[in-house]
Order: sequence, then C-alpha cells, then structure tokens
Amino acid sequence: MIKYLLNCKNCSLEFESWFASSKEFDKLKKLKLLSCQQCNSQKIEKSLMKPNLANSTFKQDKAYKNYKNVKKKLREYQKFVKENFEYVGENFAYEARSIHYSKKKNKKNIFGKASIEDVKELKEEGIETSTIPWIEDKEN
Ligand SMILES: [Zn+2]
Repeated sequence: MIKYLLNCKNCSLEFESWFASSKEFDKLKKLKLLSCQQCNSQKIEKSLMKPNLANSTFKQDKAYKNYKNVKKKLREYQKFVKENFEYVGENFAYEARSIHYSKKKNKKNIFGKASIEDVKELKEEGIETSTIPWIEDKEN
C-alpha cells in the first residue's frame, strides 16, 4: 500500500488516498476512476508527499513506539527481577533490614513493596534500595 497526497487541479483541494501501488494510481487515473472528493473533477494529480517527519501523526507514532519500547524494557527488567529476587511483598522494609543486619555472607536479593517513608528510613539506616516503575501483569 502506498499513500499519495492528491491535488485537484480544478478546486485545488488536497486529499490523501491509499493505492496498492504507483501503477494502480496510473491505471485508475487512465480509467478516469479518480475524482476529487469535493468537486468531482477528474483532474487529479499526485502531489509530492509531505515529509512525514513534519506531521503530528509521526510524532504520535514515535511517542507510542517509545512508550511500547519502554514497557517492553520494563517487562524484561521485571522478568529478571522476578527470576533473581525473592518477592517479599509488603514486608520489604522488614526483610531489607533483616538482610542488612544479618551476619550471613550470602545475602539474598529481595523485591517488594515499600512506601516512600520506608525507603527514606532504610536509606537513613544505610540500606540502599532501588525503586523501579512496575507494570502490573494485568495491564497491557
Ligand atoms: Zn476538486
């Protein structure tokens, strides 16, 4: 599929239309199957396509793609965390402290939920935590 910007020589309306190929455009034109959406004139010419970079649809597409990519990255990260960290849920602050103060050499990795206050308190105690954005599995 190819999108052309068409230009009516009669009323100078510009409109976009999709064609299977550039050949199809020529064929339809020859068969006088192309007509202006406004004045029905068949004096339709192909205009040069406006560069896509300048129009807002592109920006939206790009933003959407970025959003999708970020989500994908987050999901990969979450997968990594789930595989390598033990989920402690609401007990995160408690578990983080017990790991921090334990004498064990092999300290486990944990992840879970903590409030901003929890994180602040942990930090004051010298326990560094990372906060990552989390996507619930239900969300698409
Ligand atoms: Zn026209």
